[in-house]
Amino acid sequence: MASRAAILTAPGNPFVVDTVEVAPPRPGEVLVEIAASGLCHTDLTAIEGSNASCVYPAILGHEGAGRVVEVGPEVRGLAVGDHVIPLYGPECGACRMCLSRRTNLCWSIKPTRDRGVMPDGTSRFRWRGEVAHHFMGTSTFSRYTVVPEIALAKIRQDAPLDRVCLLGCGVTTGVGAALDDVREGDTVVIFGLGGIGVNIVQGARIAGAGRIIGVDLHASKELLARRFGLTDFIDASREPGRVTEQVRALGGGGVDVAFECTGHTGVMRQALDVCQVGWGTCVLLGVEPAGAEMAVPPVAVRYGRTLKGSYFGGVKGRSGLGRFVDLYMDGKLELDPLITHRLDLADIDEGFRRMQDGSALRSVIHFE
Ligand SMILES: [Zn+2]
Ligand SMILES: [Zn+2]
Repeated sequence: MASRAAILTAPGNPFVVDTVEVAPPRPGEVLVEIAASGLCHTDLTAIEGSNASCVYPAILGHEGAGRVVEVGPEVRGLAVGDHVIPLYGPECGACRMCLSRRTNLCWSIKPTRDRGVMPDGTSRFRWRGEVAHHFMGTSTFSRYTVVPEIALAKIRQDAPLDRVCLLGCGVTTGVGAALDDVREGDTVVIFGLGGIGVNIVQGARIAGAGRIIGVDLHASKELLARRFGLTDFIDASREPGRVTEQVRALGGGGVDVAFECTGHTGVMRQALDVCQVGWGTCVLLGVEPAGAEMAVPPVAVRYGRTLKGSYFGGVKGRSGLGRFVDLYMDGKLELDPLITHRLDLADIDEGFRRMQDGSALRSVIHFE
């Protein structure tokens, strides 16, 4: 069928908004009509040419929500009309990772996903007679997209798709990471109050943290973060050499949990250093430049600190995302204040420009 989509032909080029041809779903696949899609930083890495898993021409987008319009053969758990959120991290339920119950990672279709094709090795998109590639297995910058059933979370019908689409990436990553590690009464610090950071703030608040400290180079981030539950702000541009000392002092010697969202290895080390000796946990979420390494003296962890990472908030998408939709519908998790701009697909370039210059927190494309 014909679908309106934004096509990225090569890094650095503007998007081409045009009609693409979408082939019907094959076995285990589902055709989804996307209602809305957020713009996320990982799409920007494909635009800038630093994402090794993007094959051009590509249809980007991985923070969408929509409705099932057709199911392929062998699809058992979804039906026409179901509301879904596409997942770049699937949950097959049968691989070693899924069966371990120790991780939310499922790499069952990662090799083909990272080549921009469906699990059978082919693409469902054609543009001007040529193959156009999927991106992150989701391609939500197309009105119609084909996604494997194992990469779709079925959600309740009363949740507004143009808001819960944000649960497809950034919000769940931040809130989930906080819910995993923060306990009631904890002192928490977040380095970097961008899209992930502010959601760690609200996750920490939901988890009952006693003190939520934010560290950022831009004082302009403080106001919104306070709205989400931040209790203390440190402007790291003022006295960068004193940040570690300031955070430790606010934590009574050390914090219970530190989250790193900047991707700078120096800040990662700082996040570990502010953790309380004996039990403090440092969680890495920021993505470092390719090949970067972090230096850690063994003594920094030998006395009981934990250094760990988190992917998609530790959430198994198909079985775990419904809880986050409920948190939103119950008024405990906020999505609306995160959305600063709403766009038509034709204005997608402008949306990414706003992301680059920092004037938008989250932009959402509306297909209807
Ligand atoms: Zn994302
Ligand atoms: Zn699996």
